[in-house]
Amino acid sequence: MNPFILIIEDEMAQAQILQYNLEADGFDVKHAANAEDGIFIAQEEVPDLIILDWMLPDMAGIEVCRQIKSKASTRDIPVIMLTARGAEEDKVRGLSVGADDYVVKPHSIKELIARIRANLRKSGLDDIEMNYGGVSLNTETHRVKRDGDNVKLGPTEFKLLQTFLKRPQRVFSRTQLLDMVWGADIYVDERTVDVHIGRLRKALNKGDKDNIIRTIRGAGYALDVDA
Ligand code: CA
Repeated sequence: MNPFILIIEDEMAQAQILQYNLEADGFDVKHAANAEDGIFIAQEEVPDLIILDWMLPDMAGIEVCRQIKSKASTRDIPVIMLTARGAEEDKVRGLSVGADDYVVKPHSIKELIARIRANLRKSGLDDIEMNYGGVSLNTETHRVKRDGDNVKLGPTEFKLLQTFLKRPQRVFSRTQLLDMVWGADIYVDERTVDVHIGRLRKALNKGDKDNIIRTIRGAGYALDVDA
């Protein structure tokens, strides 16, 4: 599963070059051309990182950042701000509203990708080994363990668990899981999510272990030790 980057940028040419290069480098990318769309996608699809332009037509980038960082569901997403200006004052303002990093335009694509990777590592999303509540998942060996015991998972259950481990305790709706695990382009019934959650739960709880996948009626599912 590739890291998912959201670009919020109104200059189409710049956004397209960036998207092309990021995709070539193994990222999944979505582009929003204005603040409103960007905030919506951030909430609905929970990207792994956001690249945010300082100057947007409908709202200042700094205000977008403030909104993203003030909501519990999007607060942990690293935000890299892009600005044409290099003023120290802008940098301080950006960081004071919670931006995680800052890149001045014009920047080299290589530099920006290096900064993206650094920020993903810092937030633990580039980790090879993911852990929560006694469950560990290794993205290189594809091994999953719970309390030291091997857990056998199919590819879909593996991806589901990987998605949950990125944000333990966070509630994911069925629609969000469909987008993140199956991909937004494929039509899959929401019932399919329930089927695979059932399989994942059964595999993880094998041997009479406590249930670790919480069902939230009308909202979705979460990986939670207090399930
Ligand atoms: Ca702009």
